[in-house]
Amino acid sequence: MQDLIIIGAGPAGLTAAIYASRAGLDTMIIERGAPGGKMFVTHEIENYPGFENISGRELSQTMHKHALKFGAKYEYGDVKEIVDLGETKKVITNMNEYEAKKVIIATGTENRKLGAPGEDKLQGAGISYCAVCDGNFFRDRDVAVIGGGNSALEEALYLADICSSVTIVHRRQEFRAEDYIVNKVKQHEKIKFVLDSNVKSFDGEDTLQSVTVVNKLTNEETVIPVAGAFVYVGLIPITSPFTDLGIVDERGNIQVDERLESKIKGVFVAGDVREKDLRQIATATNDGAICAQNIINDLK
Ligand code: FAD
Repeated sequence: MQDLIIIGAGPAGLTAAIYASRAGLDTMIIERGAPGGKMFVTHEIENYPGFENISGRELSQTMHKHALKFGAKYEYGDVKEIVDLGETKKVITNMNEYEAKKVIIATGTENRKLGAPGEDKLQGAGISYCAVCDGNFFRDRDVAVIGGGNSALEEALYLADICSSVTIVHRRQEFRAEDYIVNKVKQHEKIKFVLDSNVKSFDGEDTLQSVTVVNKLTNEETVIPVAGAFVYVGLIPITSPFTDLGIVDERGNIQVDERLESKIKGVFVAGDVREKDLRQIATATNDGAICAQNIINDLK
């Protein structure tokens, strides 16, 4: 029996492990991939305090080592279900079953993909899902943003300060974003619009060279030469293993209180998997610390 099981070894889960094990809790992390989560697949990180420039892989390794320093156990496993046994919770993976007094869900998100040809091949070679992270690599170059919601437009504004031009490709005429942001985008001299259009393909052999779009009304095809394309068609929280627990709403989110505890007592939620405005390493570590400290207080 563990005091705490943390599902997911991204920055949220690893931070929770540092706090909990350092406070003497018997802590286990369960991860189905590489420690570090999304950090592990990030080329360079320039905005995590204390590291002016660090590769995502190196920050993952540093955080992972730190998380194990105070005695937390690390298990490989793909969590399939949590069963609420009242005072304790059972965590079922593809390989084992574990029991703990408290659980933190820190499973992150998956990027919603467009599904256009070339997208998988050129991911990380021109196609990105994070302008705050990767925008600087396209300084003074032309880029496209795909999407028409708040995230897409906010990130287009961010990119317009860095890049030569930003072309927003959106499948409708109207944006789903707040008027305030739409107006700002429309007034920006570096931002252009290709509306009522779908992406037909992302083109290039080793790196992205252009995006081909098709106008839905005229069927006209346009090739937009760009070095980068930022896809903002949504993030999907990884919550499907927890639907049977009855805590996942119809949009796939888990509602939490200010302690980051779900409606099932003893089940906490940290990091990108939570509904939030800014999904970054700093905000994930923040959540991990809050969850762990609340659990420490509850158990003592
Ligand atoms: P994640 O990092 O997503 O970790 C979740 C972990 O849970 C994963 O390891 C996953 O394998 C595991 N998991 C999921 N489901 C299960 C399961 N069922 N069983 C077991 N394990 C499971 N942020 C910055 O601050 N600066 C940057 O420069 C930056 N660059 C980025 C670049 C890219 C390309 C991307 C995609 C993101 C970037 N981000 C950046 C965002 C940042 O990486 C995330 O906000 C952060 O990693 C979220 O941390 P997390 O711990 O909540 O989730």
